[in-house]
This record gives sequence, structure tokens and C-alpha cells, in this order.
Amino acid sequence: MPARKNIRTSNQDFEDMHSLAIIKVRVQHGMCHEELSVHRSILCQTSGYMKERLKSSTVKETSIRVSYPHNFGLYVNWLYTGLLCTIDESLVGYDNEYDELIESYILGIKLKDSTFCNAVISAIFEKVEDEEYGGLPRDEDLDLAFTPKPGISEDNLSPMRDALVEVFARAPDSHKVDMVIKQKRLNRDFVRDLVKRLLELRNSSELSVCDFHLHDDGKDCSQEEPARKRRRQD
Ligand SMILES: [Zn+2]
Repeated sequence: MPARKNIRTSNQDFEDMHSLAIIKVRVQHGMCHEELSVHRSILCQTSGYMKERLKSSTVKETSIRVSYPHNFGLYVNWLYTGLLCTIDESLVGYDNEYDELIESYILGIKLKDSTFCNAVISAIFEKVEDEEYGGLPRDEDLDLAFTPKPGISEDNLSPMRDALVEVFARAPDSHKVDMVIKQKRLNRDFVRDLVKRLLELRNSSELSVCDFHLHDDGKDCSQEEPARKRRRQD
């Protein structure tokens, strides 16, 4: 029988003080900045950008330039909880959830965090199906997604753009699609990709959200687990 272990555990479980350290992140936007304190180990969990910047244990502060500091807050919350707090339950006025998701994806590229980008992709597909807080993206959301972003390659943006095209291509309610298509100005690159995809789908196939994720070779998809399972206990 294995010895009972109540207090002792494997030395593999040792989390040294270095990884528990708090890092001050200066979130810069325009001429302003905000400061957020985040655990080093959490910050470096999935972000290649942070891993590079915090390589040395003597570094206690770092910075990132963002378009919207709110999205960095969403990111940090996701790091700790595995959840994206983007649903506006008040339903008062404009639903800007797609806007937030698209900006979050762009932030994920900056942070070199493919796990976060995958979570955003899954959230896009989840929103479309959401009976209460769902629906299709609007033309301004598509414009935001398809407009080139300085410093970000088109290749990096394409999984998010393809996901938006896919939700339209597979939309069951043709009336809703019709409404969007009739809107004054629909992004031309989006229309081109949508037509291309509709032609491909003529031999219809099942939707696999994973086709729009980035997976490390041979690794299982982290999105397969429910988000709450990923929630940290501490
Ligand atoms: Zn996947």
C-alpha cells in the first residue's frame, strides 16, 4: 500500500517564490496608461510575448501598448478564470460583444497567445448560437475584422476572419443573412470570402470549431475542456 501523504507531496509540485511574484504591467494607450498587477506565473502561462519579456527573474515590471485597456483587463480575467466576460446582460443599446471579441483576438496576436485566440474563436461560435445574447455580426464588426491592422500580419488575422465568414456561411436563418447583405456597405473582402466559402460548402460538411483554432503539433485542444474546469482554484 502506498504511504499516506497528508502534508507532504512530490517535489514536482513545488512552486517557488519566483513564480508567485507579482508583476506590474503598464498598459499604454495613446498618451495614457493604466497599471495592473498580475502573478508572474499566470502572465507567462500562455503568452509568448510575456515569456520573452519576463525571462529574467530580476524583471518586476513590463509594459504593453494596446488600443483598448479594457481588453487587457478581459485578458487578465481570462487568465485567472478561463472565462471571457463579454456578455452585456442589460441589453440596453448597442451590443458590442463582437467588437470586444475581435479586439481581444487582435490583443491575443500581440501577446503571442494562441490559447487565448482559440478561446475567442470558440466564443464567436458560441455567441452566434446564443438564443438570448446572440446573433450575427453587423457590418461595422466585419469592417473592424477585415480592416488591415498596423503591425499585425494578415496571416495572423485570417483564423478570426474565417470564423466570421463561417458563421454567415452556415447561418440557418437566411432572412438574417439577407438583412445584413442589404445593409448599406458590406466589407468587400468579407463578401469575397463569403462567396468563396459558400461555393466550397456546396458539398456540405459538419462544422468543426477546431478548424479555426491553432494547435501545437500533437497537442489536444484546450478548448475541449469546459472553461470552468480550467478555472484556477487559488
Ligand atoms: Zn481546437
